[in-house]
Amino acid sequence: MGCALGVALGVFAAAGAAGAADAADAVDAATAAATPSAVLPDRPSGDAPGPADSWLIRNGRWFDGNAFVADERLVLQGRFVDVLPGPPQRTLDLHGAWVVPPYGEAHNHNLDDLALAPALIRRYLHDGVFYLKNPTDVAEQVERVRPLINRPDSVDAVYAHAGITATDGHPSLLYRFVAEREGNPYPGGYRDHAYVCVDNEQDLAAVWPRLLATHPDFIKIYLLYTDSFAKRRDDPAFRGLKGLDPALVAKVSERAHAAGLRVTAHVETAADFSVAVRGGVDEIAHLPGYTFGVFNVERFVLDPAAVADAAARGVTVVTTTSIARNDPGNRLALIEANQVANLRALHAAGVRLALGSDDYAQTSVVEAMNLLRLEAFDRRTLLNLWTRDTAMAIFPGRSLGQLQAGYEASFLVLGGDPLVDFHETQHILLRFKQGWLLPDM
Ligand SMILES: [Zn+2]
Repeated sequence: MGCALGVALGVFAAAGAAGAADAADAVDAATAAATPSAVLPDRPSGDAPGPADSWLIRNGRWFDGNAFVADERLVLQGRFVDVLPGPPQRTLDLHGAWVVPPYGEAHNHNLDDLALAPALIRRYLHDGVFYLKNPTDVAEQVERVRPLINRPDSVDAVYAHAGITATDGHPSLLYRFVAEREGNPYPGGYRDHAYVCVDNEQDLAAVWPRLLATHPDFIKIYLLYTDSFAKRRDDPAFRGLKGLDPALVAKVSERAHAAGLRVTAHVETAADFSVAVRGGVDEIAHLPGYTFGVFNVERFVLDPAAVADAAARGVTVVTTTSIARNDPGNRLALIEANQVANLRALHAAGVRLALGSDDYAQTSVVEAMNLLRLEAFDRRTLLNLWTRDTAMAIFPGRSLGQLQAGYEASFLVLGGDPLVDFHETQHILLRFKQGWLLPDM
């Protein structure tokens, strides 16, 4: 938990994908119609789940970022290679099915509880979501989950642990409710467990060694309505509706980068987005304007100069569009129109995008299908964002998200062409991760 939502609401309604397919998709549809669909049993005979040192994978149609290309692949010790040193230990025949890289979830707070972890890992693998980024969690709880994750037969996850906010800033109010619901597991509340409070450079210096001692994979900061920071700072009416002093963002970025850690910023407004980019963060964890608050659209339209700056600095923006479905007002059409405009501006400027749902009860499937419904991107672009680009945002140091030699041999085998019907992304016949054929989920 820790961002917009305490509780995930909403029933996922599979939105109609029909609509304005672009010209390239129309060509794909024509091509696909001319080829027989794969006749693939749920599991090809003789292919028991498990690992092998080397594989020959035949008769796949492999997504290369642009199209599906009929070919075979070789796998050695968990990676795609051009040649094997000898005959393959195992051969897998895909019977002409479609192969895509695994999906990622760049913003969710689940997978932080040992009791819930086994079912959640199965859910993620079932959905084809192999990579997870958790910006705000409790380090002590995650340590108990660690034996179950980051291995070939499970989900790979990274965690920020405690996020940095101001005294009485978000998510302190949210965690007060969580603590009450959970019977107050920590005597002093979730402060110094799920979040730390920093109001000046001295606070930052004091808290920093404790943060690093929890071994975070990256650093999370909270920025909320920085354009009225001075007004909100000492006003109890804004408890939980404010965040870190914008003047401290660059200080956090400097410390994090010196420690080899990237910085992810929660934002609410377009002004927060600009502050985050100028302050040197690496990732922005929301698209401005998913809001539950007062919605005047002008406050959530991204500044073109900040968008260009984000592109130049290589900043990633995580979409989290689907949480707007829970907005209590009748403003959803307005919010979504602004989300689409912001997404298109970011994409046109070359800003890196990653998919994240921020929805505790879901995986990034809900976000991918929401972006499909919004028609913010064509299907090919959406597939690349959900696979290659989201994996890179979560694990920038690994070779993920491409089905070619040198990259980790992880992929999903689909029963239909997702460039024709994007819902085929959930028609998963086989899951393969780092040289392991996973069991059916
Ligand atoms: Zn969140």
